Amino acid sequence: MIQQRDIAIIGGGPAASTLATLLCRQGHRVVMFSLPAQAPVLVGESLVPMIVPMLQDLGVEEEIAADSLLKPGACFTYDAERVFEFRFQDNPKGTPTYAYNVPRKRFNATLLENAQRAGACWIRRRVRLDRVDGTDQVRLDAESLKSASGYWKGREPDLIVDAAGRANLIGRLMKIPMQPGPRRDVALFAHVDQTELVDPGYVHNDRIDQGWCWRIPLPGRVSLGLVVPKEYATQHGSSAEEQYDRLLREDPVLQRLAPLARRLTPVLSFDNYQSLSSRLYGQNWVMLGDSGGFIDPVFSSGLLVAMKGAYQLAEAIGSGRSMADYEQAVKAHLQAWFEIVGLYYDGRLMTSIERGQAMADSVAGRLFLPWVRKHIAAIVIGAATTRRFNLGLLRFLVDERFGLYDRDSEIYRIK
Ligand SMILES: Cc1cc2nc3c(=O)[nH]c(=O)nc-3n(C[C@H](O)[C@H](O)[C@H](O)COP(=O)(O)OP(=O)(O)OC[C@H]3O[C@@H](n4cnc5c(N)ncnc54)[C@H](O)[C@@H]3O)c2cc1C
Repeated sequence: MIQQRDIAIIGGGPAASTLATLLCRQGHRVVMFSLPAQAPVLVGESLVPMIVPMLQDLGVEEEIAADSLLKPGACFTYDAERVFEFRFQDNPKGTPTYAYNVPRKRFNATLLENAQRAGACWIRRRVRLDRVDGTDQVRLDAESLKSASGYWKGREPDLIVDAAGRANLIGRLMKIPMQPGPRRDVALFAHVDQTELVDPGYVHNDRIDQGWCWRIPLPGRVSLGLVVPKEYATQHGSSAEEQYDRLLREDPVLQRLAPLARRLTPVLSFDNYQSLSSRLYGQNWVMLGDSGGFIDPVFSSGLLVAMKGAYQLAEAIGSGRSMADYEQAVKAHLQAWFEIVGLYYDGRLMTSIERGQAMADSVAGRLFLPWVRKHIAAIVIGAATTRRFNLGLLRFLVDERFGLYDRDSEIYRIK
């Protein structure tokens, strides 16, 4: 039987709400602390297929579907001749053949309401944490603790979960080093009324002069994000708005993709997002979701890592096992995405996909290509991102001595 524990979750995002629901199902007393989102729009609107089984398990798929657009695939464009379309219909057997593009505020609200229905208490406040002197423990500030007194009888919770996203509360407090990623990009993001779209519902990724852009079709609008090197952004203005609007007007690819786009929201800007915390747990605390690390927007992996992490953490708490397994699993997940994302930026991933396509009509292509495709697809949709066999196959395919021995991956490099 599971021992009932008092658990504080800091944050009201998908990681926090997913974990809260799962812990309430286990019978724990869960208090979530967060303020309602103030930003006009939230980033993170494109889901990968392997989130769908989690939405089903949480019992929210129908509600999410009603607010969202069905996402049947992804389309990557480099120039007029180099367009790669990936249909989720072709996903490996037993995995979802679709995903969703979600207006994030509504998505967060649905998950949060679900957590409350499961029994979690939501306290609308911003928490401050303190370190307990001379220990590896943290504690809630007195006011936050008091606000939960009806629920936990006034004492400190048994476990504090930092699911506060990029605020990385515990990491900053405990001075835990973050491993930075190699890219120094800035992501400029807003909603616009319209853009060109190759396939309805698909998430679109286009290489631009420097960097790349995403187009995520949403009900009645399109999320248009520009991911460019920081110094390139600053050449286009001092404010995020100036940079976004000028890039939209001046980049030749963006001119073609969004010639009539009218911006509907302010521009939000994100930088230094590639990072991985060197520690994910301590004596009475644990990090979950973005607070422990985030890799890159390019393959829409953030929500997968955050929500899958919630399942892994709930499992660790429920089984009473050490958090070491949880930490190892999350780090392996983030490291795998670091590697895959790196192959996107250095051009080797698409070079290898193009090589596969060129072999499609050969005997070897007919025999092996469907098998190879399924194993690689399983990585990027989130079904086998950390599986050794799949990653080994990918490494072979993108190795310049083996899979790419006669190919130049520069053609697909992202500046
Ligand atoms: C440019 C960019 C594009 C992205 N695009 C995608 C995408 O298309 N698909 C995808 O899957 N992922 C994407 N992501 C990643 C995704 O947004 C995150 O991985 C995801 O939101 C993580 O969820 P979370 O619950 O860990 O954190 P968050 O969603 O950031 O939630 C953190 C919560 O903590 C609260 N909080 C913060 N400080 C405190 C405090 N002191 N007290 C109380 N509450 C606090 C916040 O208010 C918020 O509710 C993108 C990220 C970036 C930077």
